[in-house]
Amino acid sequence: MRNVSVWGRVLGVVDAVIEAVDFDEDVDAVVVSVRPRKGAQRRCGRCGKRAPWYDRGEGRRRWRGLDLGTVRVLLEANAPRVNCATHGPTVVQVPWARHGSGHTRAFDDTVAWLAVQCSKTAVVELMRIAWRTVGSIITRVSADIDAGVDRFAGLRRSGIDEISYKRGHRYLTVVVDHDTGRLVWAAPGRDDVTLERFFELLGEERCAQITHVSADAADWIARVVADRCPNAVRCADPFHVVAWATEALDEVRRQAWNAARGAVDRRRAGRATGHARVLKRARYALWKNPENLTPHQQHKLAWIAKTDPRLHRAYLLKEGLRLVFVLKGAAGKEALDRWISWARRCRIPAFVELQRKIVRHRAAIDASLDHRMSNALIESTNTKIRLLTRIAFGFRSPQALIALAMLALGGQRPALPGRPDPRIRQ
Ligand SMILES: [Zn+2]
Repeated sequence: MRNVSVWGRVLGVVDAVIEAVDFDEDVDAVVVSVRPRKGAQRRCGRCGKRAPWYDRGEGRRRWRGLDLGTVRVLLEANAPRVNCATHGPTVVQVPWARHGSGHTRAFDDTVAWLAVQCSKTAVVELMRIAWRTVGSIITRVSADIDAGVDRFAGLRRSGIDEISYKRGHRYLTVVVDHDTGRLVWAAPGRDDVTLERFFELLGEERCAQITHVSADAADWIARVVADRCPNAVRCADPFHVVAWATEALDEVRRQAWNAARGAVDRRRAGRATGHARVLKRARYALWKNPENLTPHQQHKLAWIAKTDPRLHRAYLLKEGLRLVFVLKGAAGKEALDRWISWARRCRIPAFVELQRKIVRHRAAIDASLDHRMSNALIESTNTKIRLLTRIAFGFRSPQALIALAMLALGGQRPALPGRPDPRIRQ
């Protein structure tokens, strides 16, 4: 009897009776036979309501539990079906596992915790499961957390963005909370219909409470926001505006590099070789914020200033635009006026074009300068989601990627089983 209660504690199963513990040589695992306690029997696996017996289902089933030392553990029990008033014939609820899972709750929770904390290889090797299995586990755990929290509570200033997650132009639409820096919603797709679904979930009353929406210049976002959020000011994400300038700069750099390479081909001789090579490698020196440059990159930049005035001018234009968003407010708007007249006359087509685009989106950019929208949070959330898209490569569905992103960035990190929940403040 005492052994039995020890086993219950060791396995972390509650509301269940341990019937037997054996070692199964065939599968090289400890097999623990269990059954739900009386009060936990004959409940619908989907809603947990009591329901009458239906049939034996598929007989006995096994669930993978947390390893005991180095040995794998399997829980084994009958899995009959009940006839739920709402869900019809459904496999019964078991206290040790989520519905439809082949693993115990403790196993699922540990995997979810690890997926947020460690590398893909670490999770897969330690838990002895496939990465795709990790995908379905975190989807379940995240849905479980979702059911218990209101992610949209207090949402006032939000940012909407599209993120590519697979080659072949697959996108997610993501919504973040500017005030908390949390990811609040994500779904596959980037179009009116996708975003409409978010506002549908948010509900009319909460839509009316949104004061600011920041986004890139996508027309579909502007359209839906104008329609759904009557009280929201639409702001341009500084992050995206500066990214436009970085793209324009890169175009100029590529042109300079091609010209330098062409010069080599024509002369087939030394002098320009170095020039082309440095330009090709100058990418990061040109992209990075000046305060983050390494001495080597600073040197490269100084070299460009001397040898390629046009490319250097393009660099200064990019930096000038970035400064606008550092200044913010009236000073930022003034700086933007000066920037526009400078860019208009700069004779670098990529920046003349960018200047036109900026003028077109001036109202949204001014709004973001006026309201001093903080970009740091959104940019870091964006960067983190982009990193996750790489880790999530190999998941079968975008839902698993979304689950991972929500677990990592949604402010509700998964808890380890048997430990105090970090989400509950002590
Ligand atoms: Zn039910």
